[in-house]
Amino acid sequence: MFARLLPALLFAAAACAPSPSASPNVARQVTDTANMHQSSGIVHFADECEKWDEWDKPAKPFQIHANTYYVGTCGIAAILIANGEGHILIDTGTETGAEIVADNIRSLGFDLNDVRFLTHSHEHFDHVGGLAKMQSLTGAVVIGSYASIPVLRTGLPGEHDPQYGMHSAFTPIVAPPASAGWRKIQNGESISIDGFKAFAIETPGHSPGALSWTWESCSGDDCKTIVYADSLSPISNDTYLFSEDQTYVALYRIGIERIAELDCDILLTPHPSHSKMIERAATGTFAGGMSCAEYSSDKLTDLETRLAREAGADQ
Ligand SMILES: [Zn+2]
Ligand SMILES: [Zn+2]
Repeated sequence: MFARLLPALLFAAAACAPSPSASPNVARQVTDTANMHQSSGIVHFADECEKWDEWDKPAKPFQIHANTYYVGTCGIAAILIANGEGHILIDTGTETGAEIVADNIRSLGFDLNDVRFLTHSHEHFDHVGGLAKMQSLTGAVVIGSYASIPVLRTGLPGEHDPQYGMHSAFTPIVAPPASAGWRKIQNGESISIDGFKAFAIETPGHSPGALSWTWESCSGDDCKTIVYADSLSPISNDTYLFSEDQTYVALYRIGIERIAELDCDILLTPHPSHSKMIERAATGTFAGGMSCAEYSSDKLTDLETRLAREAGADQ
């Protein structure tokens, strides 16, 4: 059962909700006030955090839009999608960061026990190192991609990961019983709660098991399509060559193209700086400032630059 406390932020929004009989003017004032609360929370993120900030530096949580909340740190995003019948949490940050994320969820007035699903962007410790801790705090079902689940269950980066050997092991998620505690998800499938759906998009490249996510967030008639796009940056250890795995590069390109094709009112990224979230927060909204097409184009340029460098080094 959904249990929600009444924190200042949500109380303000709830207290502002227009009654069915409210006049248009009252309803508009109420919406304006709710937007103002939302906007000031977003601006505060720009005030307290810096570009490429530390992964475990606490940030005050805030409402991004309607059902969508930022509960991450300054340097690593964690996104809570709140629903009346339970919540979805995407990413937890590092193991230390997960404590901050848990506190952020509580301070918004949500109950950790109402987090029903945990999932990820990609299977590197700075984004999923805290999943085991969060799973124990919430009892939630963990949803991962086919390539990420073995990493999450062992805490060991996969040997096909371009960054293999660069990261230390993280605490693995030890069962809940496999049938109840885990779910694998593929491209186009969704996590659904009471009619709400968040869709998984497979975007391998930065890591083999990377997922991006999209969902609709509505405040009355004001609906926004939100995209949480994975890093898609071609970073590797000293010996890995993308050009030696054409199948992987082909999938990488498909993932970049998938992001370009999405409806995308609000773009969010696991590393906030990848999509200029700090600069965009200063404007009071994440709507606009960078489109999915622009983000995708940047990532394609990064990949092409990397491949050209590998080809040049080969000659
Ligand atoms: Zn990574
Ligand atoms: Zn990262």
